[in-house]
Amino acid sequence: MYLKQVVDGHCDTLTALTAQKRSLGERSDRGQLDLPRMFSGGLNVQFFAAFISPRYKDMALKKCLQLIDQFYAELNANKEVIELALHAGDIRRITGSGKIAALLSIEGGESLTGDISILRILYRLGVRSLTLTWNGRNELGDGVGEGETGGGLSLFGRLVVREMNSLGMLIDISHLNEKGFWDVAEISNQPFAATHANCRAICNHPRNLSDGQLEYLAKTGGIVGLTFVPDFIAEHNPDLEKLIRHIDYIASRFGTGCIGLGSDFDGMEGHALGLEDVTCLPRLVDALIKRGYGDDDVTGIMGANWMRLLDRVLK
Ligand SMILES: [Zn+2]
Repeated sequence: MYLKQVVDGHCDTLTALTAQKRSLGERSDRGQLDLPRMFSGGLNVQFFAAFISPRYKDMALKKCLQLIDQFYAELNANKEVIELALHAGDIRRITGSGKIAALLSIEGGESLTGDISILRILYRLGVRSLTLTWNGRNELGDGVGEGETGGGLSLFGRLVVREMNSLGMLIDISHLNEKGFWDVAEISNQPFAATHANCRAICNHPRNLSDGQLEYLAKTGGIVGLTFVPDFIAEHNPDLEKLIRHIDYIASRFGTGCIGLGSDFDGMEGHALGLEDVTCLPRLVDALIKRGYGDDDVTGIMGANWMRLLDRVLK
C-alpha cells in the first residue's frame, strides 16, 4: 500500500539522543528512532518533543531552549534528508521531495513560566504544538498524576488555549486530567489532540482516554495518537495484537477518523512485543489490512487523519 504521509504525533528522541550518546543521523542499536530507521519504517512526518522533565522545573524554559537548539542542530546536520515543517503545506512539499518533515513540539507548559509572551516567542522559534501539562501541576493546570484534586485549567491555562488558537498551534491534552480536557473542549475554537494516549476501556490506565473523551475527539475532528507505551497497551504481555484491540474498539464505536499514531518512541521503558522501534511500522500496516481494514481506514490511521487536523489547525 502506498502511503503519502505517515505521521507520528509524539516522540521523546531529542531527550534520548543525549542520554544514549547517539545522533539522529546515524543508525543505532540504542533507542527506538533515528533517521535511517525512520526511512526503513516508512515514517516521514514526525513531531519531535522538547520534553521538560519535572527535574528541570526551576529551569524549564532554559531546558526547553536547549532542546530546541539541539533540534535545529540535528536538522542542520542532516539537511539532505530532513527539514522543518511549520504547516501542512510544508509537510506535503517536504515529503513530496522524499525527505522527512520534522515538527517541533513542547511537552510541558511549565516552559512558558506563566508568561504568555513566551508562548508567542516559542511559536516564532518554530514550535507548533504544546502538551499543556505533564503528569503534575503547572501554571496551566493539573496533570493526570494529581489524581483526585480534579483541578482543571487555571486562568493562565485558559489564556494559553485561546492564544494557541489564534497563533495556529496544535493543543495537546495528553497528560492533562479529565477536568482539564473538558475545559479545553469548552474554550478552544479548534479541534485538538491527545498526541500519545490509548483507550481506557481496553486498558484502564489514567493516561488513556475515556469513551466520552474519544467520542468528543471523533465528533470534533480531533485525534487520539495511539501510543506504543507498553503500560498503556495492556497490563499483561502488551504486544502489537493488543494495540489493534484499541483500534478495533475506537473504530467500532467512534469510527477510524479520529485515530492517528503517537508512538512515544524513546519515551518509554522497554517496549511492546512487535513494536520494538520505528522499523516495525510496516508490521502495523500489515496487521490492519489482515484485520480487514480498508485502504481509507489504513491511510487515515497511518497519517491522513493527522493531516486533516493539521490542515485545519496550523496556519
Ligand atoms: Zn508524554
